[in-house]
Amino acid sequence: MQKITVILMIMVGMVLSSPISHAEEKAKPKKQAVEKNITLIHAGTLLAVPGQDTLTEQTIVIDGARIKEVHAGYVTGADLLLPYARIIDLKDKFVLPGLMDVHVHLTMGEDGGDGPDDSALAGVINAKKTLMAGYTTVRDVGSMGDVIFKLRKKINKGDIDGPRIFAAGQIIGVGALDGGLECNGVESCRRTTRSLIAKGADWIKIYSSCSGSKLCSNKDGAPVFFDDEITAVTEVAKKYGVKVAAHSHPRDSALFVLKYGVSSIEHGSFMNDKALKAMKKQGVYFVPTVGVHDMLEKLKREGKVKGRVLAHNDTFMKIHPETIKNAYSKGVKIATGSDAGVVPHGKNYREIERLVDLGITPSDALKMATVNGADLLDQSSDLGTVEAGKYADIIALSANPLQDIDNIEKVIFVMKNGRIYKD
Ligand SMILES: [Zn+2]
Repeated sequence: MQKITVILMIMVGMVLSSPISHAEEKAKPKKQAVEKNITLIHAGTLLAVPGQDTLTEQTIVIDGARIKEVHAGYVTGADLLLPYARIIDLKDKFVLPGLMDVHVHLTMGEDGGDGPDDSALAGVINAKKTLMAGYTTVRDVGSMGDVIFKLRKKINKGDIDGPRIFAAGQIIGVGALDGGLECNGVESCRRTTRSLIAKGADWIKIYSSCSGSKLCSNKDGAPVFFDDEITAVTEVAKKYGVKVAAHSHPRDSALFVLKYGVSSIEHGSFMNDKALKAMKKQGVYFVPTVGVHDMLEKLKREGKVKGRVLAHNDTFMKIHPETIKNAYSKGVKIATGSDAGVVPHGKNYREIERLVDLGITPSDALKMATVNGADLLDQSSDLGTVEAGKYADIIALSANPLQDIDNIEKVIFVMKNGRIYKD
């Protein structure tokens, strides 16, 4: 639910050349340096591929930023002829891939304030909170100004602690009516979309219906764009190989944008069978953001909403969970997105817990928070599982989340890109 409307990849190339006469003396120190870059994780329980069975007593071999291999049993550096390898003992822990949240607003929320300075600071604070909660990758689907692109750059450089960010920048809407960046007529929609991509957007986020905080986000609410406007946005995005995420609450707005090739429907509160079947057929992801109900329940408990708004929220809280269960039973692809920024940052796991409360198995919910997130982001070859060749984004819990999903909160170890952030 969008409450306020405001506002890449590291390539390492190494060229080695040395005169033949010096080759031998240079070889020795070089070998040591490489070995020191090797880390071995002894994992008591390893959920290498969420959705599949766990493995016990495994050794994950990490070389620099990537996983080199996964061995059965506990292997030491001496066994691998890598005496300088560092060993991390997680023998009594539950190890799994870093979690992914594909719907956050890092520059918004309680620390967000009103201006660009506040939102920049909030981004730094929230990035760290998110990473410490075990989330090594996020998709930011709506930021204040362009600060999210700068935050992404600093995190990639290693100057700021935070998750990998795939960022949409500001949300595209119709302008004054919904608070999004203006897409009003074909020319303006093209211009706005092109300019976001030029600034560095790796996703485009659109409002296909009005913000969830407004009454027009009810079941019968109208899609906000005309056909030629949404066509302009999706065609520009397609031209530059950028995917589109659509915010949608009413029954018909998702169905409307699905005609134009969007890749994910966010919230999707009142989607009917027809929309869900179309999503399944097109392989479009559903990002339900059910964690937002925490906030709505709190508002109700504290008597902060009344009258039409309360009735609106009540209907939403009744129908939205049914839509999610319906999508799950139909086999629609689901990825976890917390809408942190609307709800607190660093508690992104609430989404996983609430999905399990709705009857989704812990195994499936963890898959939605890893494997499926990577698939939606087109990062399956690099992220989402603990397998050879992938980035070493690995976390550990002090207890098994498959037995009790609340254990997902017990994050005691976080590694991203082979670097340890929490131990
Ligand atoms: Zn949102």
